[in-house]
Amino acid sequence: MRRYTEQDATRALTPTGGFLSGFGFSLNPYVGCAFGDRGGCPFCYVRALPVARADSGAWGSWVIAKRNLPQLLDRELTALARSRRLAETAIFMSSATDPYQGLERRMRLTRAALALMADRPPRRLLLQTRSPMVERDIDLLCRLGTHVVVSLTLETDDDRVRRRLTPTSPSVARRVRTARRLRAAGIFVQLAIAPMMPNCAQRFAALAESCADRVIIDTYVEGDGSGGRRSRALGIPELYARLGYAGWFERGAQGTLAAAMIARMGRDRVLFSRAGFNAL
Ligand code: SF4
Repeated sequence: MRRYTEQDATRALTPTGGFLSGFGFSLNPYVGCAFGDRGGCPFCYVRALPVARADSGAWGSWVIAKRNLPQLLDRELTALARSRRLAETAIFMSSATDPYQGLERRMRLTRAALALMADRPPRRLLLQTRSPMVERDIDLLCRLGTHVVVSLTLETDDDRVRRRLTPTSPSVARRVRTARRLRAAGIFVQLAIAPMMPNCAQRFAALAESCADRVIIDTYVEGDGSGGRRSRALGIPELYARLGYAGWFERGAQGTLAAAMIARMGRDRVLFSRAGFNAL
């Protein structure tokens, strides 16, 4: 059973760097992530970060809403605008949670943050989610216009793989439908194939071309910020071996998919790992 609580945070925007060096700040409306429930995303390295110790329960079994996030963000956006830095600021939402997990339906913190940024847009907002709930906010995303990129996580085109590895995530078909709806509304959509899971390269490339403006391909080795060490510590190689996916963990496993994507979409629309996420 999940435990939902609310707390006051001390700030909305957290200075960032490292893997997200192209961004000035990250914006996390929640602490914890319900998509991690029941082992939901086995590769989620957030569970190993200090933030995952905000509650003593297992990762995925609790979520804390930052109830004063709108007030904090309002103040911080005002300060950035006053110092003329807002137009240069890139914000990553969210780096340690999914902004559209179930609790958002009731708390509407992500929606409140988008409304504030629609009035005072940063240079770029990257909205990272795996949830079709993002469709609810199409009105605000349209107001953000060219200032926003919706980055929709889709690690595989194979729903059997999705069910085995990320059972709490929305189906492939449902996420593709979301991508198409966002795009039809004029919103820039990238598919974050991150981390890449076993897939059928040609089929995945055709699917991506049909629903996204660009893709980012990332892997356990290149994309976990530690050359694969974090993913190994989480037992991903053993899990893959058990499921018969062993070769998919190795460095270079993305080669076939990358070639198929580039052939379909062109080199400019296929980005990779850290450089891809930081391409603003
Ligand atoms: S959705 Fe993201 S933050 Fe949430 S459990 Fe999965 S990988 Fe972790």
